[in-house]
Amino acid sequence: MDKKQNLYDLTVEELEESLVVIGEPKYRAKQIFQWVHKGVLSIDEMTNLSKELRQKIKDNFNFEKLKIQNKLVSKIDGTIKYIFEYADGNVIESVLMSYKHGFTACISSQAGCRMGCKFCASTGIEFGRNLTGGEILDQILTIQKDEGKRISNIVIMGIGEPLDNYDNLIKFLKLVNHKDGLNIGLRHISVSTCGLVPEIIKLSKENLQVTLSISLHAPNNEIREKIMPVNKAYSIDKLIEACKIYTEVTSRRITFEYAMISDVNDSDQSAFELSKLLKGMLCHVNLIPINSIDKDEFKRTKMKKTESFKRILEKHGIETTVRRELGADINAACGQLRKSRIRNDKYDKIDSDICATS
Ligand code: SAH
Repeated sequence: MDKKQNLYDLTVEELEESLVVIGEPKYRAKQIFQWVHKGVLSIDEMTNLSKELRQKIKDNFNFEKLKIQNKLVSKIDGTIKYIFEYADGNVIESVLMSYKHGFTACISSQAGCRMGCKFCASTGIEFGRNLTGGEILDQILTIQKDEGKRISNIVIMGIGEPLDNYDNLIKFLKLVNHKDGLNIGLRHISVSTCGLVPEIIKLSKENLQVTLSISLHAPNNEIREKIMPVNKAYSIDKLIEACKIYTEVTSRRITFEYAMISDVNDSDQSAFELSKLLKGMLCHVNLIPINSIDKDEFKRTKMKKTESFKRILEKHGIETTVRRELGADINAACGQLRKSRIRNDKYDKIDSDICATS
């Protein structure tokens, strides 16, 4: 098996160590790191390195960039969905969205997902594997290079459960935040989780300034268990307890994601229960009109009802927004990303909404 490390998985410090091992000076590490994070497609593009050194790097490291298998551009608002393929054939998806304050990328943390949320398109597809920190980063590098735009915000809300790939997530955050690389502030990054309690507590102790989003989607165990199997492992009370620890340790406000599903979690009673559950917490609720996936088991709550749900929460002092929809012509919305190799012609038939954090 090929044991060579992939260049984009290495921090400057790790590169320094590896270069010393092959008899090269440490200062080269920063140069190489900068090239990698500029998004060069090959080692030969690292033009301030001699030909001999470039060859030596090729001999000792991998540099397997992901390939753009397909790219879909919304005719309505320019939102772009990328279908990416890694060197081993695993396929994932990422989305680029444009806002007044800049460009936000929604990226994937795993090729597939093991969490089994019933309303999500990433469920029911064979799990591929965890992505490495560098592979997660390469989604950003490739989008920036392809579009010639600078990404200012990142949401880790694509395919996968980031806290089920904890160490690689942390590595990604270190890489993307590095001053010699993209230098994207951690405050501009949201990590979204379905609620892995031990990892939420672990994350609170990392001293990172990321925004934590919790995919809550229900006000009690009875409803949550029906739609999110993870609730059987970590009940709502344990989850909320972990969230309280997170806000106390980090002083960072948590976002609770709540997909509005008709006749499942959208009653006034649910709004009252949710208000009680979140009372006094440093948090914000983001109501998401649920997006359809193939099964069509879950129907979207009417906007009028969503507004009244929002008013109940606000009356109880809970800041609430309704996630803005950006377009309606490519399959790039929350929960609609999947990882299987999908034939291009399938996309011609798809008609659904795109949404994104407002
Ligand atoms: N595993 C992580 C991140 C990926 S899902 C998590 O669970 O948070 C990103 C967000 O999209 C989550 O809030 C998820 O619950 C939501 N989502 C999944 N399917 C959806 C759908 N059909 N409609 C709207 N949101 C959905």
